[in-house]
Amino acid sequence: MEIQVDAIWKISKLIWISRLKWISLHETDYKMNTHRCPNIEEFKHLLKKHSLKATPQRLAVHEAMMILGHACADMVTEEISKKGTAKITVASVYNVLTQMAMLGIYDYRLSANNKMYFDVNTFKHIHLYDHENHVFKDVIDDELISLIESHLNRKRFKGYKVEGVDIQLIGKPTRKKYTI
Ligand SMILES: [Zn+2]
Repeated sequence: MEIQVDAIWKISKLIWISRLKWISLHETDYKMNTHRCPNIEEFKHLLKKHSLKATPQRLAVHEAMMILGHACADMVTEEISKKGTAKITVASVYNVLTQMAMLGIYDYRLSANNKMYFDVNTFKHIHLYDHENHVFKDVIDDELISLIESHLNRKRFKGYKVEGVDIQLIGKPTRKKYTI
């Protein structure tokens, strides 16, 4: 789901932070991730590209991720068992998710309640984090990203090269009951 930034600014008590990711100048294994959520056929193609079999478990994990967008292993396991598409444990789901993240097929981020969330969209985007329900939503605002990046381009941080900017808005629902 895409949320327009105008609406985001109206959320009360909203604060935003930009978190810089640092890499040492000697680190060279940085990978640029640029794709939107792959559909099931594209996902199969990506697995093949990485010499991985399209097992029912891997496909079930991706199908759940396509619905959830951002999710931790518990949420994905629950979604799979709800649909009954495959038999899979939380540990196996976590392994599949981690493997996809290592290959750059998914992105990942740690939530404030210390859970690893995976993200089907790996192109550059902003997140809105609901700190009451621990849910991430995508905010598409290329203008804001460009503004911050161009500002940072003029700055130097001794001993570091800025690898990227990770912008996360933090909010809480304006309605009492949260619904997906
Ligand atoms: Zn996202």
